[in-house]
Amino acid sequence: MSAQNPVFIPGPTNMPESIRKACDIPTMDHRSAAFPPLFERAKSGVRKVIGMTEGEVILFPASGTGGWEAAITNTLSPGDKVLAAKHGMFSLKWVDLCQRHGLDVQVVARPWGEGAPVETFAEILAADSAHEIKAVLVTHNETATGVTSDVAAVRAALDAAGHPALLMVDGVSSIASIDFRMTEWGVDLAVTGSQKGFMLPVGLAIVGVSPKALAAMEGARLSRCFFDFRDMIKLGTPYTPAVGLMNGLGFACDMLLEEGLENVFARHHRIAEGVRRAVAAWGLTPCAATPQLYSDTVTAIVLPEGVDGNALVRHAAKSYDVAFGAGLGEVAGKVFRIGHLGMMTDVMALAGIATAEMAMADMGVPVALGSGVAAAQDYYRNNKPAQVRAAA
Ligand code: PLP
Repeated sequence: MSAQNPVFIPGPTNMPESIRKACDIPTMDHRSAAFPPLFERAKSGVRKVIGMTEGEVILFPASGTGGWEAAITNTLSPGDKVLAAKHGMFSLKWVDLCQRHGLDVQVVARPWGEGAPVETFAEILAADSAHEIKAVLVTHNETATGVTSDVAAVRAALDAAGHPALLMVDGVSSIASIDFRMTEWGVDLAVTGSQKGFMLPVGLAIVGVSPKALAAMEGARLSRCFFDFRDMIKLGTPYTPAVGLMNGLGFACDMLLEEGLENVFARHHRIAEGVRRAVAAWGLTPCAATPQLYSDTVTAIVLPEGVDGNALVRHAAKSYDVAFGAGLGEVAGKVFRIGHLGMMTDVMALAGIATAEMAMADMGVPVALGSGVAAAQDYYRNNKPAQVRAAA
């Protein structure tokens, strides 16, 4: 892979040079007085980015999967019932993780390309008058299919049923790129990793924990040690923290906040819309079932019958030194994915669209070279960011 080319995978994402440098600090004694300000800056930055006004932010040296495990093991007990949906690779893997921990998962299976089934969840929650369901799991952005689900609607379903279950949200490919409001949406556990919207190397599991989830922690009997929130809260760093990554995280949050979260979300939306215009110009369709579900961080594109999406991704890497996302699980081979989150600009997106066109043309997909690029150019030219319009 050429280090000169951006990647178009939905994480790990491209890293701004300034963030890379912020991670590259000399060895610091994490028990010295220099560490607490760095740690606090990272945590208070995350609080703002995830829209959290109460509760705790916990940072583990792990990836997003560790965040899933921490969320459930700190708040649930063996045999507890949880409600979850399966509509893509990541929602499916979270269910698997819960089952392997001995939870009783009520799974609502939906075709890949659909979102979290809010109406079915609402019916199940309303029928659960004994409140046997202890947690509802939502994958905010299903990275395998490019689908964003409505977390606020799941909260509304819980509230309408007067149901006390915890709301756990996987925000791995949404947080810091698309709107996320932990406290306002009543999210009890918000999970992400460092390598997506935060534009950092992989290595931190980031978990927002609400006061209600902190209260549940006391009675939770699933076994945990490395991921025990209690040690984290009592000691801050019960084991050697990833100091460089935490420094990078504080820096990344400041960068996002300086851009303004609304501008960050608007930028992701504009860039994604340009990609979607390109997809339409190619005569192809996103895997997401309806436009309301379109993700602003990743687009999974359905290929014509007979074209192997994974071969396409390998070809783009080999011939053009550019990484796109392969199809996963049920949609392996049927789609390829363009990741457009994190450090991404119109110009970068246009390069990705142009490369995808070349790779598809090489593989016999009947796309006219330049068609997707032109559609995206047209959109970007006519929909400049608000800041650019204001300065003109
Ligand atoms: N959840 C979602 C939505 C993801 O996209 C990913 C990874 O891509 C994960 C969870 C797992 O995160 P990690 O690979 O950081 O463990």
